Amino acid sequence: MSVRQYDHWINGATYAPAESKYVERTSPAHGELLAKFAAGTEADVDAAVLVAKTLHDSGAWSSVPGSERAKLLGKLADLIERDADRLALIEAEEVGKPVVYAKGEVLWSAELTRYAASLAWNIQGEAYSHLGDNKLGLVTHEARGVVGLIVPWNFPMVCLFQKLPYALAAGCPVVIKPSELTSGTALEVAKLAAEAGFPAGLINVVTGTGAQVGDRLTRHPDVSMISFTGSTRVGKQIAATAASDLTRVALELGGKAANVVFADADLDAALDGVLFGVILNQGEECVAGTRLLIEESVAEEFVTKLIERSKRVVVGLPLDAETQVGALIHAQHMESVLNYIEIGKQEGARLVYGGDRLTANGLDKGYFVGPTIFTDVKPEHRIFREEIFGPVLTVTTFKTVDEAITLANDTEYGLGNGLWTKDVDKAIKVSQRLQSGTVFVNTYLETSPQLPFGGFKKSGYGRENGVDGLREFMETKSTFIKMGERAPVLPNTVD
Ligand code: NAD
Repeated sequence: MSVRQYDHWINGATYAPAESKYVERTSPAHGELLAKFAAGTEADVDAAVLVAKTLHDSGAWSSVPGSERAKLLGKLADLIERDADRLALIEAEEVGKPVVYAKGEVLWSAELTRYAASLAWNIQGEAYSHLGDNKLGLVTHEARGVVGLIVPWNFPMVCLFQKLPYALAAGCPVVIKPSELTSGTALEVAKLAAEAGFPAGLINVVTGTGAQVGDRLTRHPDVSMISFTGSTRVGKQIAATAASDLTRVALELGGKAANVVFADADLDAALDGVLFGVILNQGEECVAGTRLLIEESVAEEFVTKLIERSKRVVVGLPLDAETQVGALIHAQHMESVLNYIEIGKQEGARLVYGGDRLTANGLDKGYFVGPTIFTDVKPEHRIFREEIFGPVLTVTTFKTVDEAITLANDTEYGLGNGLWTKDVDKAIKVSQRLQSGTVFVNTYLETSPQLPFGGFKKSGYGRENGVDGLREFMETKSTFIKMGERAPVLPNTVD
């Protein structure tokens, strides 16, 4: 296997790291060296911010008509689709996720880019024309300035593309800080953007650790906003750091979603949605449906069938086309997932399926844990409350609608929830009472770019996608215009 080596991407070209050091990424599936990413330092961040700030101040991007920005975004989407297999391979290798799902992620990123292009055509303001004689009020929206985009490792492309095309559509230059574990696709995308014809300095990528690159980006006085996706722990640090300079922040953080299944649901459909909701991306998914809340009268039959289906889930090497659950991101994370499984057992929950590291059939050099199911889980259990970030499902039963809602909302997080029922009244009433930024009804992990994405409670603030996702990167300006003759306010001072 050939090792990919990357420098930073600054001002439309590769940029060697000031300290000539590189971070190594080994495969989570078989331990071989995959890539070396430039280990960024303060000097590298400063170089990237300088070119982005210079571009912003020149107006060379923010004054480009929305229609032109849209055309470039469309070209970028075409190039992402052209290179989808190559990008999916990089994503699958670096994250350890199944290549089939990685390809879906890449194509979804192209879709988000096309949607953001449509927004660039339609950047609107308001005009107030009835303010009195010769008076006009305008409300317009302008690019915020240089934006730092800090993204995690679990969905390197989608997390980036819920930000990048919107920031570009809004008129902002960006400095991207991908995860040090999975920086490949961000750098490849920056190259594709140059090929599409975006100006140099608009899209910059500085790789390296959060402690060095991410922290400097957050503190940099010329960065107007940080758009962050990652853990609640780091999100709090970023919010605190950014507050010292009043840098704006948008935070997409952790989650602990419930999937609420009522007895009157299409239970076959729910089985499919619940299982998919917890195994996608090995459970390394902020909106994973990790807490199954099931109406007591159907719980036993549902769990029995869920176990049967879980046995058929293919856990395997990321590049095998049949694989549905790949490798966890690294050894330490696998230990953390296995530790939560131990905690679940010790707390008195009943492990009814899975729970072990899988090493058979060529998986012995990687970090594989298959679907795992606990029943008898109580709200006070840590496995009910804490983000495990692995394919671990907790099952808790309820008897009434109110009880289901109370259980679903009994978490500090509020990113997503799902519910399954054929009763339309119940679907609407329950979805209105679930405290989360997204609710999936009779489906799971299915959405459309028009719908904003973001969290309630400790899942963060700010929204991505939809019109809100564009506005996140814009300032609002009010302009009051007076026309005609001026009647002096200070007549006694007039000659
Ligand atoms: P993380 O918080 O450890 O890291 C995220 C990014 O922040 C990385 O690029 C990292 O290098 C950087 N970083 C770390 N410390 C930093 C600091 N002090 N200053 C600036 N940047 C810093 O998260 P992770 O482990 O990469 O990703 C998993 C987490 O992300 C989970 O909690 C998951 O729920 C969350 N997530 C949320 C969403 C969402 O949309 N809400 C989507 C995907 C993942």
